Amino acid sequence: MNFQEEKGKDPVAISTVPTNTDEPLGKGQDSLTAGVLDPCIFIILGASGDLTSRKLIPALYSLFLNKALPHPFLIVGCSRTVMSDEGFRERMKEALEKAGPLDPSTWPAFARLLHYRTILYDDFPSFKRLADSLKELDKKYKTGGNRIFELAIPPSLYETAARSLGRAGLGIEYENGRGWARIVVEKPFGRDLETALALDKRLHEYFQENQIFRIDHYLAKETVQNILVCRFANSIFEPLWNRNYIDQVSITAAETLGVEHRAGYYEQAGVLRDMFQNHLMQLLALTTMESPTCLDADPVQDEKVKVFRSLRPFPAEDFMDYTVLGQYGRGRIDGKEVPAYREEPGVSPDSLTPTFAMIKVFIDNWRWQGVPFYLTSGKRLARKQTAIVIQFKEIPHSVFRETLEEGISPNRLILGIYPEEKITLTFQTKRPGAHLALLSVNMNFFYYQNYQGHLLEAYEKILLDCLQGDRLLFWRQDGIEACWAFLTPILWICEHCDNRAEMLRFYASGSWGPEALKKLPELID
Ligand code: NDP
Repeated sequence: MNFQEEKGKDPVAISTVPTNTDEPLGKGQDSLTAGVLDPCIFIILGASGDLTSRKLIPALYSLFLNKALPHPFLIVGCSRTVMSDEGFRERMKEALEKAGPLDPSTWPAFARLLHYRTILYDDFPSFKRLADSLKELDKKYKTGGNRIFELAIPPSLYETAARSLGRAGLGIEYENGRGWARIVVEKPFGRDLETALALDKRLHEYFQENQIFRIDHYLAKETVQNILVCRFANSIFEPLWNRNYIDQVSITAAETLGVEHRAGYYEQAGVLRDMFQNHLMQLLALTTMESPTCLDADPVQDEKVKVFRSLRPFPAEDFMDYTVLGQYGRGRIDGKEVPAYREEPGVSPDSLTPTFAMIKVFIDNWRWQGVPFYLTSGKRLARKQTAIVIQFKEIPHSVFRETLEEGISPNRLILGIYPEEKITLTFQTKRPGAHLALLSVNMNFFYYQNYQGHLLEAYEKILLDCLQGDRLLFWRQDGIEACWAFLTPILWICEHCDNRAEMLRFYASGSWGPEALKKLPELID
């Protein structure tokens, strides 16, 4: 930890070590799991796709290297593409080589876990063949009959795949004495309230709620989990954590990337569906929820859902006072010219899809009444940064008014989520010297300082939790519905109202968004 002066002023440094240990954190860690994991088969539907190559297989390989996978364990990739087991292994080897250096001595053992079956998502016989084939693998490798089905397929296929799994006896009735079956669903969970309800209804025809794991890998980031620890394992914050001391809160997820190769998806989604319905809402809930009775999944979800239900409905008539929507134009990122969103491949030249949004929301409950929360996210912004800034109220009366010409900056607690994983507290001190002058300084805690254990990537953590059946970091359906109930009217205005072209403000790539948001860099610095 160190004290560091705010930008542009002289630094004053003090170092400390963690107070409860002399050992580097993580030393002596034996295992990443809380207990013995059941043997199982991890079945990936959509195994020829991007998510499988870029996230799932690298995460499973890393867990394998860290001896965190169950034993015995198999991975069965499935998709329409015709491939042999050997062909799938080669493809996954290439994917791992792309993701980072592959250790040739460990690859053969991991490759032996990989199998492949060709399926058609809406074809009952191919799922029946898959069910039979899984049984044979169980017999041969003693995988205990337990199954995880990961839906790494486009969302339009979720219902079809769930139905095919259910009809092949791999859903609810599977658990009658044969082992457990879980289905993992990737975001987005519907496009709006209506479609989210329809998807849930269909999933529940074939799977029970406790079998459904709805992934938001954002929740598995160490620093996101640390929000709860920071709030509920320290007594100093709680008395201040309310409307009496907090003036405003800003939650920002800024990206430098553009739409890349995902124009087809993004044109339909836009920034509100892509970032707000899931990641930003979760950060909001973790920042504002009441303490759960314990850290089990349901008590935590209960508290989050209370926050979502307390969100003040958006006032349609004053919509523009609460929202800034933008779309990136040409500009420079990392010194390179980048095209405007409308010039990206696959994007309509007159697209009105927002790539930036800031919304001001209020939570109508005793703790937060009257405190504005600014939720902001955008693509092609000046810097990649996700942070929560808690801004405290200004001091009620300044005894320094005779000596200072300017006002005193309010204290801020900044929870850096990514890529600067740190907690910063800004406060005022006396500037050293004969005259009385104030100095604004930062006290920083760097999250990974002194940590030497294996750092779990978000997908590693989330897959590990799924293998353990721990639902804490997954969405519950009532939370999804409450979020969609809040966001759907906003989406409706953004997508259907007559003056939506005028609502969209263009911003240069590499800037901090539309002109209206000049304050943004100050809030997240
Ligand atoms: P892809 O577009 O790469 O599709 C995955 C596989 O699904 C394809 O390889 C293809 O396999 C099959 N598929 C694609 N389109 C169709 C179609 N129209 N009909 C039938 N099969 C089709 O998706 P991703 O891997 O990018 O994403 C999978 C899921 O994960 C999505 O729901 C996405 O929202 C979610 N997600 C993805 C992330 C990512 O980084 N990619 C991040 C977070 C969530 P085949 O033709 O061989 O059957």
